[in-house]
Amino acid sequence: MPPIVEVDRLTIAFPDPARGWRRVVDGVTLNVEEGEAMGVVGESGCGKTLTALALVRLVPEPGRIVRGMVRIGGQDVLAAGERDLCSLRGGFVGFIFQEPTQALNPVRSVASQVSEAARLHGGASRPDEDALAIRLLAEVGLEDPERVARSYPHQLSGGQRQRVLLASALAADPKVVVADEPTSALDTVSQQRMVELLQELRQRRRLTLLFVSHDLDLVGRLVERVTVLYAGETVEVATRDALFAEPHHPYTRALVQARLAAGGFGERFPTVPGAVPRAGAWGHGCRFAPRCPYAFDRCLEARPALTALGDGSMVRCFLVSETEDADA
Ligand code: SF4
Repeated sequence: MPPIVEVDRLTIAFPDPARGWRRVVDGVTLNVEEGEAMGVVGESGCGKTLTALALVRLVPEPGRIVRGMVRIGGQDVLAAGERDLCSLRGGFVGFIFQEPTQALNPVRSVASQVSEAARLHGGASRPDEDALAIRLLAEVGLEDPERVARSYPHQLSGGQRQRVLLASALAADPKVVVADEPTSALDTVSQQRMVELLQELRQRRRLTLLFVSHDLDLVGRLVERVTVLYAGETVEVATRDALFAEPHHPYTRALVQARLAAGGFGERFPTVPGAVPRAGAWGHGCRFAPRCPYAFDRCLEARPALTALGDGSMVRCFLVSETEDADA
């Protein structure tokens, strides 16, 4: 069976007065099997959020997907008409965004917002809506769900609002849930609870989960495989265990080492020395070369290809494969 989420060589560009179009994502490949939990990690500016939005063609204007392939549940997203896109967005694919305060409407009750996806996609009738909202709010672990359903977002804590968003994402009974930094606005205890809740929901509902985060430690608690993005491209894909035990790409290695140095869950956010290059200002060679302790001459001249290693993992580095990227 093909993966339920398939992304190949995704390229997203924004207008640039000096250069026409500036590519901010250029070479993201991502495959997620049905029922799998996949982590997408990388520092800010690596293209994680744009990739997540591109799954349902929600790249913000004036950005455009200029190349690549995106299929969800076998459907070609880039060729889909508006009706198919509507049923994907919030229907087949549920989204949880990082900032619940912005994602929730301050002047609408929680019940009406939670049941909105069911109304749009599942045809839930008015009398059923409140009952559905209360059931979903209970499912995501909110105490006194009747009271929460009658509340407005400002009457809830940050952790409660994030759970409300999760309940909304589940309302249309999605097959795939995309969680984009869903814990970044939460304290450490709430983060841990959210991870446990996602794990429970995933198993109970047999969800496919795409968990997007800058926090490799958090990702490691939830997923089976990890896709590492750097400067708008995929640089490594591996099982969680292989990635932590023996990362191949120097960037992944730096992330894993930074995680260990940070002391584990809830500690100060680990960092990798240096900075991600400005989107689109990548030069011809390997995009990680300016920060890579192993860089050699060829790394500055050619872009390595994302190469399959045969065990299901993939790496983009000349230390692992000499193949150059034909699209560079
Ligand atoms: Fe480092 Fe070269 Fe590998 Fe890039 S290709 S990650 S610069 S060794």
